[in-house]
Amino acid sequence: MQEFQKTLEEIFRDFHRHPETAKEEYRTTQKVREFLEKQGIQILDLPLPTGVLAQVGSGEGPVIALRADMDALPVQEQTDLPYVSETPGKMHACGHDFHTTALLGAAALLKEREAELKGTVRLIFQPGEEINYGALAMLGTGLLDDVQEYYGLHTDPNIEAGTLGIRENAIMASPDWFGVTIEGKGGHGAQPHNCIDPVPAMASLILALQQVVSRRISPFSACVLSVTRASAGNTWNVIPGTAEIEGTIRTMSDEERDLGEQLIRQTAESVAAAYGCTAKVGYKRQSRPLINTPALAAFTTGLAEEMGIPVIRQEPSMIGEDFAEYLKDHPGCFVRVGTGIGPALHHPKFTVDPSVLSGTAEFLARTAQKRLEALRNA
Ligand SMILES: [Zn+2]
Ligand SMILES: [Zn+2]
Repeated sequence: MQEFQKTLEEIFRDFHRHPETAKEEYRTTQKVREFLEKQGIQILDLPLPTGVLAQVGSGEGPVIALRADMDALPVQEQTDLPYVSETPGKMHACGHDFHTTALLGAAALLKEREAELKGTVRLIFQPGEEINYGALAMLGTGLLDDVQEYYGLHTDPNIEAGTLGIRENAIMASPDWFGVTIEGKGGHGAQPHNCIDPVPAMASLILALQQVVSRRISPFSACVLSVTRASAGNTWNVIPGTAEIEGTIRTMSDEERDLGEQLIRQTAESVAAAYGCTAKVGYKRQSRPLINTPALAAFTTGLAEEMGIPVIRQEPSMIGEDFAEYLKDHPGCFVRVGTGIGPALHHPKFTVDPSVLSGTAEFLARTAQKRLEALRNA
């Protein structure tokens, strides 16, 4: 186990030194392929420029998928790690280097146990999670059509290293974007009566949107709406013709997501109309809410306990995660891995404790093994 842990730490440090952002994971893809080839693991033909799809097992059903994401972020690293990012302005600030390494570890363990596997494990090394691209791209290849259940994990800087966080049902949100352009009529700052000023309409809209969550959505639902940018005009004595805001709304169910979109449109159009303006509303759906299958959350919790891994009940998060797309039509479970208490995900000082790599790989491998057994016996 110690040798295995050492190997994984080396791979992890290499990934950390060479972060690649979404859709540019060429080197990471190459390194993943090299490791898998060395283990004699079958790599499937993936019609995407980056990412790797591999498999271990009999080649027959049942089929379980394990997924890791590979991309880094456009963040300037500020840690003093000996393996700090060597690429200026890029950093593995979301722990995807850890995920990729842990899945390589699981792949190696599963390969060793291939003869005992009761089916096939598909290994998804996914590109472009941070831009909500990779999961849909992977699913779009059709190469996952026979997968019955999906499992994935994410580092968590709010959990002690070596502890897992698991929870059933909704655990992460849909991180949707919205933008509103309010159109009025510009003119001289001294003559508002000859204009249709979009600025007070924008100010009202910002306040009205704050009440969408507090007044229109059930207090039993988790929902966040943040207006994060507002702009209008470019000088002091001119009333601008337009004003713009943008922000994010995050919900934990498809129904509330639909309602949220509808309320943003309705509020923007009505408030703008009250000021004699019109509103153009944009709404972009990112990944859907991540909803763990209750029975499989219970299964992974039981398995972790059997393995002597401490488990806490995971706090839900309003962050988005495109693993959710795999669970749209299939059961599965997304687990948080404690990698030591520290700065938040995406923070320039974010770090993970790599000492839990081999344990995480073992947990992933066993999850796949045990689920294949359960499906075979079902
Ligand atoms: Zn992230
Ligand atoms: Zn992430």
